[in-house]
Amino acid sequence: MQSHLRRILSVVGMGVGRWVHSLRQRPSVRILYYHSISDLPVRSSVAPEVFAAHMGHLQEHGYHVLSLNEAVQQVQTCSPLPEKSVVLTFDDGFLDNYEQAFPVLTRFGFPATIFLAASYIGSGRLPTLTHTDFVPQPLTWDQVKEMHAGGIEFGSHTLTHPMLSRIPLSQVRQEVRDSKRFMEDILSAPVRFFCYPRGDFSAAVRHIVQDEGYAAACTIRPGVNDLKTDVFTLKRTYMSRRDTVEEFAKKLAGAYDLLQLGGYLWHRLRRA
Ligand SMILES: [Zn+2]
Repeated sequence: MQSHLRRILSVVGMGVGRWVHSLRQRPSVRILYYHSISDLPVRSSVAPEVFAAHMGHLQEHGYHVLSLNEAVQQVQTCSPLPEKSVVLTFDDGFLDNYEQAFPVLTRFGFPATIFLAASYIGSGRLPTLTHTDFVPQPLTWDQVKEMHAGGIEFGSHTLTHPMLSRIPLSQVRQEVRDSKRFMEDILSAPVRFFCYPRGDFSAAVRHIVQDEGYAAACTIRPGVNDLKTDVFTLKRTYMSRRDTVEEFAKKLAGAYDLLQLGGYLWHRLRRA
């Protein structure tokens, strides 16, 4: 029943999405966000073969996979974004991003950004998932360095993955600043991008991220980004275990944007 309803809503959403797009006629970029690329029994994990099929779909259907840096620069300078622009991001720093995603990204020649919950990297446990007792393995710093040398960009996802709107601002600043410095020391490269844990931020949190020298930040607000988007509250599209290649194609076409926006607003209301 639920899947039936979901199908109907996606068809309606697709129609509305196309209509809104035709009204808007503005170039836009969709930022996808993945977590674990594995068969883990959690909603946010995508199976390795499905992930490879997603990448194959992007290539076959003429998508332009931009780095987050390219996309942000285009938005900031109001340069025209290519049609069908997509950015790939990964949250938290799962070990399987190295084992499963990295070889596929390399094979397709696609850029990507991985946001690290920096204090857990190399620690042997990554306690960032909710609603599960399962604690997966994080990346090691050697793997991070190897991927960085291979063209993967790394951003900060704080040190300890707190809900930033719920902790004192002095602590927010510490999470935002120290994670950046820590990662820059290890990578010997600037860390330009930030990602709010669980998409949680406030105006004050956003201000601190900008003030600490980041170039842009990602939320979990669904939808696409255009030249008017605030680069410190970039929207992203959630990828989950349910995203078969057919669902993936629909998500790229915007079929679930309204549905996801409804869910997002509902969660924010409940949290408030
Ligand atoms: Zn996270």
